[in-house]
Amino acid sequence: MPELPEVEALAAFLRENAVGHVLARADLASVQAIKTFDPPLSALGGLEIAGASRHGKFLDLDVSGLHLVVHLARAGWLHWRTGLPTAPPKPGKGPLALRVHLESKDGTPPNGFDLTEQGTRKGLAVYVVRSPSEVPGIARLGPDALEVDRELFAALMAGRSGQLKGALTDQTLIAGIGNAYSDEILHAARLSPFKGADKLKDDELVRLFDAMRATLTDALDRQQGQKAATMKGEKRSGLQVHARTGLPCPVCGDTVREVSFADTSLQYCPTCQTGGKPLADRRMSKLLR
Ligand SMILES: [Zn+2]
Repeated sequence: MPELPEVEALAAFLRENAVGHVLARADLASVQAIKTFDPPLSALGGLEIAGASRHGKFLDLDVSGLHLVVHLARAGWLHWRTGLPTAPPKPGKGPLALRVHLESKDGTPPNGFDLTEQGTRKGLAVYVVRSPSEVPGIARLGPDALEVDRELFAALMAGRSGQLKGALTDQTLIAGIGNAYSDEILHAARLSPFKGADKLKDDELVRLFDAMRATLTDALDRQQGQKAATMKGEKRSGLQVHARTGLPCPVCGDTVREVSFADTSLQYCPTCQTGGKPLADRRMSKLLR
């Protein structure tokens, strides 16, 4: 799932490649992707793209005062296209959700981008709004993970009961961190994902805050300047524990373990994070029963 560093890099990519161009039209290929009806998608046609930015994990294209807001969900991505075909895509076929055409400046086939989503569980969401705050998920966002200072971070954690993994990924508490980077942050901070957020000692809070900043800024540095197509590979190469179940921890060599839930899982290193003790895993204990 694209998180703060990937969405920030996509916004930077669009600032470089799409801002200043006129949006010719947007073709909807997946009817369920669009969550708003007024203004209509067609209202964007003929307007100049004035900016591209990020709110948490939401991508926001400012189209002359209207906003095309995108949440890429779990398996969504943005693909930059050079020389788009003019014929509209067939709806409901394949991973394409939305195709945005830019106006050609010199008669060559126009550039643009595709929003795609792999898999059968569709969560990619597109909104056309007059202000980004009209998107419920944006209105609910907590402060951005890169803008929180140490003091505010400590206050947010102290006021939160429940496990660290849930606290870090709760967009209403801190915006921008998802499943992958929360695993990475907790590993870098040497903290158990199950530790209570309001149970952190001062030195643990400092470690967690520093790990959050370092993990996100390192990921951003790696993503910046990457082409949209290669960004996901770049994300994977920087991961220490996330999606690395069974592989050695790069820090200590212990085997990275996993805890699975109904529709997601987390990864961690027992030696680095839980005093060497494996965490209870419902699926594993079910298999062993
Ligand atoms: Zn380790």
